[in-house]
Amino acid sequence: MSDNDKQHFKTREVHAGVSPDPVTGAILTPIYQTTTYVQESVDQYLEKGYSYSRSGNPTVTALEDRITALEGGAGSLCFATGMAATSCTIMALTGTGKHAIFSDVVYGGTHRISTKVLNRWGLECSFVDTSDPENVKSAIRENTTLIFTESPANPTLKLTDIAAVSEVAQANGIPHVVDNTFLTPYFQRPLELGAEITLHSTTKFMEGHNVSVGGSISAAKKEHLEQIMFVRNCLGSNMTPMVAFYTLQGIKTMSTRLEAQSANALKIAQFLQTHPNVDRVCYPGLESFPQKELADRQATGHGSMLWFEVHGGVEAGKKLMDTLQLWSLAENLGSVESLVTHSVTMTHADMPKEERLAAGITDGLVRLSAGLETAEDLIADLKQALDAL
Ligand SMILES: *Cc1c(COP(=O)(O)O)cnc(C)c1O
Repeated sequence: MSDNDKQHFKTREVHAGVSPDPVTGAILTPIYQTTTYVQESVDQYLEKGYSYSRSGNPTVTALEDRITALEGGAGSLCFATGMAATSCTIMALTGTGKHAIFSDVVYGGTHRISTKVLNRWGLECSFVDTSDPENVKSAIRENTTLIFTESPANPTLKLTDIAAVSEVAQANGIPHVVDNTFLTPYFQRPLELGAEITLHSTTKFMEGHNVSVGGSISAAKKEHLEQIMFVRNCLGSNMTPMVAFYTLQGIKTMSTRLEAQSANALKIAQFLQTHPNVDRVCYPGLESFPQKELADRQATGHGSMLWFEVHGGVEAGKKLMDTLQLWSLAENLGSVESLVTHSVTMTHADMPKEERLAAGITDGLVRLSAGLETAEDLIADLKQALDAL
């Protein structure tokens, strides 16, 4: 392991967590498609580490070890989906009569589980603008047991200063969880910035090929890992070995894909800025990005996510999305295929309009996830659709 620590990110991405199969020499960790594990004897129960695949599975362990090698921390856990990772983490760290603070701009599902499900068990939730750490500080109550931020946030790309919020969290003994899905550990490592837990939808950049849905968390402390693992086992939210296998292959090229997709995103953002039918473009790599200094300080890259506001509001936006050909109108992001989403009618449809507008998710917001295609082709498609308005 100590040798592993000295290796560079791209080497760990390819090799960490996996060694040739001891029986056959297979270079890839097999898909251990099994429910249970035969124990040698009652006295040797759990000697090989596994009892039942809801609790643990060797293919999933290989992926967890690789993610730990990339994010850092005491260990990682994988889940059936990103939302399973989020739900288990919130449930492990809160309870009836407890209070949780969330970024006002978060993944739609995170907002949904806390305000439509966990509230029924008496969880109090505050959604605050975490881009100012002072707002987090003043939202803390006696019963606050969780601070949950997302940076960059879906879909507005608002950033939270992870180090500053972690300092506030630590001073109050409250765990800070960061949803790091948009940048991956290649571009941003929340645990190194002082967060207790970092979380992913592995569906996005980690697996990256629109093949599988999955989630992960990595925790700085063993204690949090154990609490979350307990809930994962109770709820039955473990990742399947098949998905772990796909993700182990996808993650090998994560950094290479991110570099290429981010370069595409920048070219696309620069093009959109010049088009008369575009009112506003938002990308952390542009000088016009409102939190450019923070974007450059806490991350080493800007990612493949960007958004723009099309001139003419909802109707123009709808027409634009229906006219695009190469870009797929689809939820999801971070895949090699370029995707376009209308957040208001798709990912954030459940969010009350007032709250949504206050969070900056306007009616005309078109979210783009730049893929791995040639930038010139992606730009040509956007141009024909924008010209047609
Ligand atoms: C997609 C996503 C999730 C949820 O992940 P699923 O795998 O879809 O359940 C959580 N957070 C962010 C930022 C996401 O983009």
